[in-house]
Amino acid sequence: MSARYEADYVVVGAGAMSMAFVDTILDETDADVVIVDRYDKPGGHWRVAYDHVRLHQPSDFYGVNSTNLGENRIDPHGYNEGLLELASGDELREYFERVMRDKFLPSGRVTYLPNTEYISDGNARRILSRDEVELVARKRFVDGTFMNLKADRLQLARTLRDHDRRCAPLVGGDTQQAVRQRWRRLPGT
Ligand SMILES: Cc1cc2nc3c(=O)[nH]c(=O)nc-3n(C[C@H](O)[C@H](O)[C@H](O)COP(=O)(O)OP(=O)(O)OC[C@H]3O[C@@H](n4cnc5c(N)ncnc54)[C@H](O)[C@@H]3O)c2cc1C
Repeated sequence: MSARYEADYVVVGAGAMSMAFVDTILDETDADVVIVDRYDKPGGHWRVAYDHVRLHQPSDFYGVNSTNLGENRIDPHGYNEGLLELASGDELREYFERVMRDKFLPSGRVTYLPNTEYISDGNARRILSRDEVELVARKRFVDGTFMNLKADRLQLARTLRDHDRRCAPLVGGDTQQAVRQRWRRLPGT
């Protein structure tokens, strides 16, 4: 079986980047949007982040334009004591679900297709039923997967091993790119 969805913008991915894009489209235009994502809920890589991972920047500066993340709290204890709160993975997942549930869907201008894998050329597939989906963008296809994030521990270990140099401390949640930058900064490397 196949279904056809048409909108001004077809957005592939429901991660932070896509969510921020759609949020602005809703606030500043009359356009409608179809969002497809292979995950079952919005939030992108935060859906699969390790439990200990949290933002490394204040919650207040992160998320979509229309909806505050966190309460602009100062952390009273711990390694972030005295500084603005850093959202946890749970808080980020709840936040993006709330934006979808309370803003995007009630707008009547967003069609959200979770569990849907984009293939190419306007073709996608429902992951559970294997049904095909045809996507038509009146204005633009928007690739919200562009950053192709990976936080693969084995790959991090290989990166370090391949450098064959003294160890740099790894912070939970470092991306490969962050590790490479850290290596470049080490004195004598
Ligand atoms: C551990 C960690 C901590 C971070 N902390 C911060 C921070 O503190 N501050 C900051 O600014 N940034 C931080 N980042 C950077 C982070 O990458 C961005 O903040 C942001 O979450 C990236 O969102 P995105 O939408 O580009 O990508 P993603 O979150 O990767 O979303 C991409 C989405 O596309 C979907 N997708 C991919 N391919 C397909 C396909 N073929 N079909 C359907 N769906 C598809 C995926 O399922 C996913 O939901 C952090 C990153 C990591 C890994």
